Amino acid sequence: MTPLARLIAERIRETAPITVADYMAECLLHPVHGYYTTRDPFGTAGDFTTAPEISQMFGELLGLALAQAWLDRGSPARFTLAELGPGRGTLMADILRATRTVPGFHAAARITLVEASPRLREVQAATLAACQPIWLDRVEDLPEAPLFLIANEFLDALPIRQFQRGPQGWQERLIGLRDNTLTFGLSVPLPQTLDTPAFRDAAEGALVEDNLPARRAVAEVANRIARHGGIAYWIDYGGWRSQGDTLQALHQHRPDDPLTHPGQADLTAHVDFEPLAALAQAFAYDTQGAVLTRLGIDARAERLARNLTGAALESHRAAHRRLTHASEMGSLFKVLAITSAGAPQPPGFA
Ligand code: SAH
Repeated sequence: MTPLARLIAERIRETAPITVADYMAECLLHPVHGYYTTRDPFGTAGDFTTAPEISQMFGELLGLALAQAWLDRGSPARFTLAELGPGRGTLMADILRATRTVPGFHAAARITLVEASPRLREVQAATLAACQPIWLDRVEDLPEAPLFLIANEFLDALPIRQFQRGPQGWQERLIGLRDNTLTFGLSVPLPQTLDTPAFRDAAEGALVEDNLPARRAVAEVANRIARHGGIAYWIDYGGWRSQGDTLQALHQHRPDDPLTHPGQADLTAHVDFEPLAALAQAFAYDTQGAVLTRLGIDARAERLARNLTGAALESHRAAHRRLTHASEMGSLFKVLAITSAGAPQPPGFA
């Protein structure tokens, strides 16, 4: 048992089984034992790798997309350039390098990072020292100003709840104890659930996930964009509609049982974009492969390849393929861009 598993078991014994959301929140952000609180999980020594850590092209192209959107919206003189869950700060560093030559863009930008982990804030401070970012604890704290925002693999880390449709109605999936071991169970049938298409259309036996913190975060951002203008790019793995049980744990680059290493494994769920898109005045949605291709990744990859040989060239070609190919991240990962009513088309979409 991990130290956090003991604490969670104690809490369940003293009170009652807990929701999957409570469990995820403890595992990821417990102040002492939480996964993100205690470590830098990225790269070969960690548990997983993300698109900005795979290639600089990811941040460069999305940075230019944000700058183009800023120009298309009349270059607001002061705006928030925000990232949610910036990890090591690599994506923001690539965005800033790629947009250096866009006249006025850096001067108008207030670089703002929403990050819950003190450990990762330190890493971000080191990566981004030159641009003097400010840190916020919560999306709700973003200023009232034009907002140009990016969030890569942020929503998948927010706690989901899971509901199953049984013969007597909906029940919530809970985590309780059997023989002193954490185990999944079901609540008594619930009087009501959400009224969303995924719940309405579910067949008996189906499991539906709901991510309330993700809906809150997207609503906060969408409301600011509706009031002050701007654009937000949300990139994550998932699909349009809830697809059953997608709770997954990764431990040292390998799939793990979600209940086995609380606090020591990464815990995520696929993102359902339909209920998030519904919160925006206007949106566009496509696969990561399609969006990066429209933003010009093939030409950028060729340009970078010219200066490379041998193993470095091979690894660059592999990174290009990994980001875009349908059998790798290209179609599992989606991009949701949200804008305001009547705003110009988001760069990267048809
Ligand atoms: N965007 C980065 C990191 C993704 S991992 C990349 O692409 O490499 C998820 C990030 O979100 C981490 O930085 C984690 O600490 C942060 N995070 C997770 N839950 C959060 C929350 N509730 N509030 C703020 N940040 C959170």
